[in-house]
Amino acid sequence: MLTKIIPEEKIQQAKKWLDEAENIVIVSHSSPDGDAVGSSLGLYHFFYSINKNVSVVLPDAFPDFLAWIPGSSEIVLYSDHREKADELLASADLIYAVDFNTLSRVNDMKDAVDKATANKILLDHHPFPGHFCQLIISHPEIASTCEMVFRLICRMGYFEKINLPCAEAIYTGMMTDTGAFTFNSSNAEIYIIISELIKKGIDKDQIYRNVYNNYSEDRFRMMGFALSKKMRVYPECKTAMISLTKEELGKFNCKKGDTEGLVNIPLSIKGIVFSAIFREEKDALRVSLRSQGNFAVNKIAEKYFNGGGHANAAGGESKVSMEETIKLFESILPKYKEELNKG
Ligand code: 5GP
Ligand code: MN
Repeated sequence: MLTKIIPEEKIQQAKKWLDEAENIVIVSHSSPDGDAVGSSLGLYHFFYSINKNVSVVLPDAFPDFLAWIPGSSEIVLYSDHREKADELLASADLIYAVDFNTLSRVNDMKDAVDKATANKILLDHHPFPGHFCQLIISHPEIASTCEMVFRLICRMGYFEKINLPCAEAIYTGMMTDTGAFTFNSSNAEIYIIISELIKKGIDKDQIYRNVYNNYSEDRFRMMGFALSKKMRVYPECKTAMISLTKEELGKFNCKKGDTEGLVNIPLSIKGIVFSAIFREEKDALRVSLRSQGNFAVNKIAEKYFNGGGHANAAGGESKVSMEETIKLFESILPKYKEELNKG
């Protein structure tokens, strides 16, 4: 039996809007990760199974290693099919916003989501939820939005409606947001849920292989290059930093999503508690920050990189050159030296 984490009145509200809804649209954040795609498709399969018209609209492309998730080919990308996406959002009577906390995270889709007259539900686990939905179900203490999808469906009384594709999507985000259950994953209830998903028929080992043992040769060589040539280590601050320019990524034919997970690797170096990666994209540098232990990286993302996130996984961007960004980063580190050395 799972703890009833989501308050009962919120469950009742969500259920009422679900009963009334005919056209449901699920949206999630740009550069969608496993939890964004997993929670979107988990809900998608569930709504489909109870005979709703349902669509998933994402701001831009998701990485190839998520394309095996059933239903992913039905996802409408705002970057490619703006008109269709606008139409879906405008005619929705219920919108689920999953795995993000502020409208700025959906980039160009912001206005269309904001203008939509549908009932809107935020289902998310990032701290500091914004107020762009009438119903806010936000639980930063939960490791993944996918876990919240499972909890919500069950609490609304629909456990029986979780079919295999729904279970596979849910498991994917639970796995990817915890680094395959290696961080943020010591809540015993996670494993009760996994047990239920296995009973629904998922092959958890196959899902692991689909996501993690599916690199292209180019991507793997880019990672080797990044670790051997582009990683700086600051032992006095227990920190490692990788920078990758557009040209460098281009040499390895890297596409969006190909650097996913790279930022976690330096945390395997003995003593390193803080890892950062800067990668050059079309009009800005994307910043990814990770930590282990008590050092909170979301405050660094907020203060210096116009971003945010969780204590141990955060991100943002930098509008200045790679050189200046690295300089800024190296000037920040000494300020946190003591904190970084604490634990
Ligand atoms: P990633 O490094 O995988 O891109 O992002 C890790 C986490 O940082 C995300 O789950 C999200 O919580 C947060 N994050 C990443 N980029 C941004 C950003 O631009 N703004 C905010 N507020 N959070 C971000
Ligand atoms: Mn998430």
